[in-house]
Amino acid sequence: MGSLQLQHQNYRAVDAAGRRVLLHVPTTSVFELDRVGDDLLAFIEEHEEVRADAVKARFDGTHAPGAVCDALADFIALGVLGPGLPTDAAAPRPVTRAPIGTLVLTLTTGCNLGCSYCYREDLEPPKAAQVMEHETALQAIDLLLRQAGDRERVGIVFFGGEPLTRFAAIRALTLEARARAQAAGKQVDFSLTTNATLLNDEMIAFFREHAVGIAISIDGDELEHDRRRVTLNGRGTYQRVAANARKLIQAGLPRPVGARVTLSRGNTDVQRIFRHLREDIGFAEAGFAPVTASPGSPQALAPGELRQILDGMKALGRDYVKAAKRGWHHGFSNMDHMMLDLARGTHKVLPCGAGLGLLAAGADGTLSLCHRFTGTGTASFGDVTRGVDIDRLADFVGAAQHVHEACRGCRARGICAGGCYHEAYVHGGDPLAPTFEHCEFVREWLDFGLACYGEIAIANPGFFTAGNMQRRELT
Ligand code: SF4
Ligand code: SF4
Repeated sequence: MGSLQLQHQNYRAVDAAGRRVLLHVPTTSVFELDRVGDDLLAFIEEHEEVRADAVKARFDGTHAPGAVCDALADFIALGVLGPGLPTDAAAPRPVTRAPIGTLVLTLTTGCNLGCSYCYREDLEPPKAAQVMEHETALQAIDLLLRQAGDRERVGIVFFGGEPLTRFAAIRALTLEARARAQAAGKQVDFSLTTNATLLNDEMIAFFREHAVGIAISIDGDELEHDRRRVTLNGRGTYQRVAANARKLIQAGLPRPVGARVTLSRGNTDVQRIFRHLREDIGFAEAGFAPVTASPGSPQALAPGELRQILDGMKALGRDYVKAAKRGWHHGFSNMDHMMLDLARGTHKVLPCGAGLGLLAAGADGTLSLCHRFTGTGTASFGDVTRGVDIDRLADFVGAAQHVHEACRGCRARGICAGGCYHEAYVHGGDPLAPTFEHCEFVREWLDFGLACYGEIAIANPGFFTAGNMQRRELT
């Protein structure tokens, strides 16, 4: 063995409650390091490169030579030690078909609220809104069933604007989609994200009967929520949202009701918001996302606020670990997502399913990458009448698979893969140009998640197989 270099881009080792765990970045596999592995890695990290004679000289008399050789061979096999280049830099795979599993239906561009940070470019008051015609929606459903290929289960997401301004359409389309899916030998799941201001008993009964997954947008307690989530006349909506959310939760829907919180300038106390949503209102889970805002927007997070958010998320994450060790579901869905990625060994070559597995139909039936791109000036990928524009989609996905130089050496690439296309679009106008603005946040959150994963896996390995985690994608 000649001299071998340490390949930082291929691993991350952290402490997990007194033990050491190592993330193998190219495969998102997590290993516990034994004493020999840990000592050997520390030695290599000190020197950045090693030769066999130096290893022998260092560990002779302290560890069994066979154990040191095995650990060295493992590090070489994993690419932690080696000649260079990430081992997961696979050639982009060409896209020749578009097997869609989830289709978002933009039932309306209208919303009855005027939230201060809304990202939508095409939002209108309900009376001026463009709505999706029934025929267009049926064509969209047929497109989904056609494009689903062999998938036995497909998903339809009702979106807006505010989807509940079109409840009659939701009811009709749910029944119609079920019938058409059954005829095609498939099952269909329904979900929606709502501001909950229009939710009534009739809707709740329908959602219960059809197991519709519901997420409610709410930003915390009355003071914070009403600063941002207001009617078109500027009045706060908290009282109505909280009352309707409680009613929905008490109705005992088959799928847990989640809260979606947008963190924007001045609203960053993650722990306090979480406690309020879980304990005072009773949501099954709550997830947090920093606002998507162009640079200079008054809603954009102020310098230092991202730090506060990350610190709050870590404090909440520590509560999550305590609960997980006892086998309890905590309800902090950002941690659920991270634990799920680590448990499943998720290694992304694309940041999300947008364009591959997921497409969104705008109110006029044009197809976009995801719900956030409908109504924007970005290119469409076909429409519900003519079908998916495979050539354009292939070009986009092909370009998206080219790993950016900066991501190539990043330990978070397997769970981030360059970040959200929409975030990039809002920041710089190009969905394929990562902003690199939140990279430190992403990497620190990964390190934290890795330590938590190790701690839970050591104390209660059954947690990851007991159905404690769930994932909802749309924000
Ligand atoms: S966008 Fe940043 S955090 Fe994400 S993979 Fe690239 S370098 Fe890493
Ligand atoms: S991560 Fe971004 S691009 Fe992907 S589905 Fe979500 S909003 Fe769309």
